[in-house]
Amino acid sequence: MILGGGFGGLYLARALDALGVTRSAGVTLVNRAPAFLFLPLLYEILTDEVAAWQIAPSFAEVLPGSCRFVCGEVAGGEFHAGRRAVLVRQADGDLVLEADTVVLALGSVSDDFGLPGVRSHARPFRSLADARALKASLIDAAQRAAAAPGETVSFAIVGAGPSGVELAAVMADRLHAELRRAGLPPARAQLHLIDRLPEILPQYASALRHLARRELARRGVELHLGVGVAGCSAAGVELENGARVAADAIVWTAGSRPAPVLADFPFVRDRRGRIPVGRTLEVPGFPGVYALGDIAASVAAPATAQVAVRQALIVARNIAAALRGEPSREYHYEPLGEMMTLGRGAAAANILGLAFDGIAGYVTRRLVYLLAMPDPWHATKVGLSWLGQSLEEAWQAWSPLSPPATE
Ligand SMILES: Cc1cc2nc3c(=O)[nH]c(=O)nc-3n(C[C@H](O)[C@H](O)[C@H](O)COP(=O)(O)OP(=O)(O)OC[C@H]3O[C@@H](n4cnc5c(N)ncnc54)[C@H](O)[C@@H]3O)c2cc1C
Repeated sequence: MILGGGFGGLYLARALDALGVTRSAGVTLVNRAPAFLFLPLLYEILTDEVAAWQIAPSFAEVLPGSCRFVCGEVAGGEFHAGRRAVLVRQADGDLVLEADTVVLALGSVSDDFGLPGVRSHARPFRSLADARALKASLIDAAQRAAAAPGETVSFAIVGAGPSGVELAAVMADRLHAELRRAGLPPARAQLHLIDRLPEILPQYASALRHLARRELARRGVELHLGVGVAGCSAAGVELENGARVAADAIVWTAGSRPAPVLADFPFVRDRRGRIPVGRTLEVPGFPGVYALGDIAASVAAPATAQVAVRQALIVARNIAAALRGEPSREYHYEPLGEMMTLGRGAAAANILGLAFDGIAGYVTRRLVYLLAMPDPWHATKVGLSWLGQSLEEAWQAWSPLSPPATE
């Protein structure tokens, strides 16, 4: 039984199918939503560079036919005296699922660190609904600016890690495009990026940081670094030094914590709420129970999709090995590089120590993500649709018959 159908859970199910495990064992995947979400491309919903169907294929499309899908909310589990039972809440009632082997891959949620006003005045950016709502508020802000001459609209993004930086760049591009459409200059919008650390992207190579800083400056994003956030209010972001960054809307990307439902399982958790696991990703004291991805405190691996997918492959091999009575393999963290969008049609990548941006960064990022999509048939459809979109844009830019571009 796999709990969670994100990068860890879905890729695990596919690997179990590829290893032939599903021929001898029933595999059930439980997830609260009926579709997988390819989070690294969520930003492009704001700029209409990707469509929802491309990054959120349904499990009916990407889960192998040999696996069973249960759509429901995991609400806790009992793991004692050889019984492994998980409670799943569904629209039409509760379900108790039992299995010999259980893998927890429930991911993380936004963390407001208990700061006042964050929950009520700031929004997270982790789901399709979040992305759609943010896009609507950018369009709405430009319309407000057009209706109120002389007034500027302002957005604040808290957290200058990869999510905050990528978001600031795409938000700027969408907002500026909307302002241009209304005949207004980009100066009618202000974007603020706030972080308590003195530098953006502290975990990234300095070359990538430099490229990101350049792109943010080009878009007029104002950086407020080295000062913590004390809270959020209807007026904006309150800083620890007593200053306020005025903002009409605030996006919170400053922290994450493991899925809260882990508190309803009997496992030991670390200070950050994650389940400590050994190198085989098995939960100590619970043979046949594994934890991976954002919820697992394993070797010093960051909470990324890259890590979750590689851990899923190790867990799949270990489950197959356990069924054959063979020894388990160990997970070792190996960073493969970083990639990030830096606005519409722009991206940067750092692969094997080589940093590049521009068209090379954009094409590399798109190709890598296409290859990383969970299902080859889905990836083919997405690739063809991106190709069609690029050809259409090139034709529109070149053809004397096409109407003048609005963006
Ligand atoms: C906006 C954004 C952009 C990102 N970009 C990148 C990137 O470019 N590169 C990168 O490597 N990483 C990126 N990450 C991080 C990456 O997405 C996560 O580290 C990765 O998804 C972790 O995989 P996971 O399987 O642990 O969790 P997830 O992929 O989050 O999957 C968890 C699943 O469990 C489900 N679930 C949770 N609780 C319950 C419950 N109680 N009942 C039922 N279902 C439940 C969730 O709905 C979800 O489907 C990004 C994250 C975000 C938010």
